[in-house]
Amino acid sequence: MGERISRDFTWEEMTYSRVAVENGLLNEPPFEVRLIMMELVKRLLQPLRVAYGKPIAITSGYRSPEVNRLVGGVPSSQHVKGEAADCYVPDPKVLLDVLLFSKLPFDQAILYKQKKFLHLSLRVNGENRYQVIINK
Ligand SMILES: [Zn+2]
Repeated sequence: MGERISRDFTWEEMTYSRVAVENGLLNEPPFEVRLIMMELVKRLLQPLRVAYGKPIAITSGYRSPEVNRLVGGVPSSQHVKGEAADCYVPDPKVLLDVLLFSKLPFDQAILYKQKKFLHLSLRVNGENRYQVIINK
């Protein structure tokens, strides 16, 4: 899983989970989920990375149903579908501004100010909601 998905994103960072490692779980996305993750990267994360102009660290991409349960995610989480990634940057509000200015497609953007990350999702099949949520 060491290969690149795009210029700046690898399968490793899109599937890494500390909780999975600690619990001896594989956290490997099935083939159909990998296809969706490729679209998430190609249509949203990579163009956003280029527009932002600085590295974006993925702290949580794909989560298997079991990993998602262990981290306390809702069962319907888009992380399980390969549609979401948590993007850690020093200034996540700026990343959100760049996203909104860029007109890139997204389903949900949730800004976590204190934890300094932006949860981003994209629906590959179906309508995107362009929903922005600001959290402390
Ligand atoms: Zn998330």
